[in-house]
Amino acid sequence: MNQSDIDTLRSQVLSPRSHFIGGRWVAASEGGQRDVLSPIDGAVLTQIAEGTPADMEAAIAAARAAFEDGRWSRRAPAERKKVLLKLADLIEKHALELAVLGVRDNGTEITMAMKAEPMSAAGTFRYYAEAIDKVYGQIAPTADSVLGLIHHAPVGVVGAIVPWNMPLMIGSWKLAPALATGNSVVLKPAESASLSLLKLAELAAEAGVPDGVLNVVTGSGRVVGEKLALSMDVDIMVFTGSGATGRRLLEYSARSNMKRCYLELGGKSPNIVFNDAPDLSEAAKVSAGGIFRNAGQICIAGSRLLVQEDIHDEFVAELVKHAEAMRVGNPLDLDTQIGAVHSISELESNLDFVAKAEAEGAERRTGDGRILEETGGYYMAPTVMTGVKPTDNLFQNEVFGPVLSVTPFKDEEEAIRLANSTVYGLSSGVWTSNLSRAHRMIAGIRAGVVHVNTYGGSDLTVPLGGVRQSGNGHDKSLHAFEKYLDLKTAWIKL
Ligand code: NAD
Repeated sequence: MNQSDIDTLRSQVLSPRSHFIGGRWVAASEGGQRDVLSPIDGAVLTQIAEGTPADMEAAIAAARAAFEDGRWSRRAPAERKKVLLKLADLIEKHALELAVLGVRDNGTEITMAMKAEPMSAAGTFRYYAEAIDKVYGQIAPTADSVLGLIHHAPVGVVGAIVPWNMPLMIGSWKLAPALATGNSVVLKPAESASLSLLKLAELAAEAGVPDGVLNVVTGSGRVVGEKLALSMDVDIMVFTGSGATGRRLLEYSARSNMKRCYLELGGKSPNIVFNDAPDLSEAAKVSAGGIFRNAGQICIAGSRLLVQEDIHDEFVAELVKHAEAMRVGNPLDLDTQIGAVHSISELESNLDFVAKAEAEGAERRTGDGRILEETGGYYMAPTVMTGVKPTDNLFQNEVFGPVLSVTPFKDEEEAIRLANSTVYGLSSGVWTSNLSRAHRMIAGIRAGVVHVNTYGGSDLTVPLGGVRQSGNGHDKSLHAFEKYLDLKTAWIKL
């Protein structure tokens, strides 16, 4: 990837996009379109279809028809594998185009986007494609007079709803295992980050995913998202997004066909630094990256720093130094380390969090609020708030922006108590050179992930998911297959 290749793509005019239903590009049934604003400069980038309930019904019907006639669901796993491997190759071939498209849409810095979006998506499709012809059923240990077979059957029609941060990566975490296992999918991207997923649907068709197996409907969550989640003909919902929407999905499920809902929600993840951390300077640098990259818009961001009190001042000073050295700017410039905040409403919400924290007595150690306003884009300086009390709004609630909350602690027991004193349980970090302490912390912290002497970074071999109000589903690893396959018993009298 070099700057001149990015520059060729950054100002390309984008034509308006339609839904992708039944293998065809389809305009919204009432002709509606929605402007897509770029967070880079606040300008209109293009338009997407403003989906209606009728559009969503058409997509669900297409997915159901494709599932029932077996055009994909009854293909041999080895054949599905071939198609999905081809899709992985196509994603890689179009990686820069996909990355730039996504960045123009959602503002992630290009260096991170390239790795975390197309390259990770290609790897995800490859991983599940390679795995699917290695999943066996079971024979039960019955008496000789019967044969008990345990099959893994695809669930049917999967409804997938994803957020605006890392749409290709998160979308692929759901699409790849869902498609590999033979399901049909209706995908509803976020209103403000649909473009790269629409391109993915085009590539899937080129790779040979049959018509109707992957459908994408764009538009409002409250209209098409709700229609999808309320459908009697959708078998499971897989979702990544906010807790408020996750709660609604559970309600829609109860009001419709009681479909299983797998929810990946928000977090307020504690990053805990003990005075015996192996390298405090490294810990400060990684902790700054762990909250500020992608302008803090990462679900697992280490947004709640807990520092042992005797190293608090020294550690915060070092972290502030790193925060101030990070370059905030146009996410399509290769030397940018922190890109744009996704939307003006997110930016306003971030600033509001900081103002409330100050009103509650916290001190702003660095961060000038909105910056680079002259670009028309939405940029915010990385912000460090110290003296945040466990009862404060900033301690308890997810900002989803570049704002770090810092609280001192005395000992291990207090660190665990503080770590667990929000409703969330997504990610966490512990910095210590004491192995026994590391294991006690892993056992004590209620979170889906505990990083030790690092923060962030993982690969497909391990699951990602939360506990408590951070959700109940896990993406990644072979465990993801469990969501998309039902167990079915055959009991045969011999
Ligand atoms: P959001 O809940 O506002 O939107 C997510 C998706 O839900 C969008 O596609 C939206 O259109 C749709 N939606 C909204 N209302 C709906 C409704 N009533 N019915 C059906 N669908 C509806 O979340 P967001 O602002 O796009 O994303 C940010 C949130 O996502 C943060 O809380 C972040 O922590 C979380 N997140 C979690 C993970 C994870 O793996 N746990 C990963 C990324 C983001």
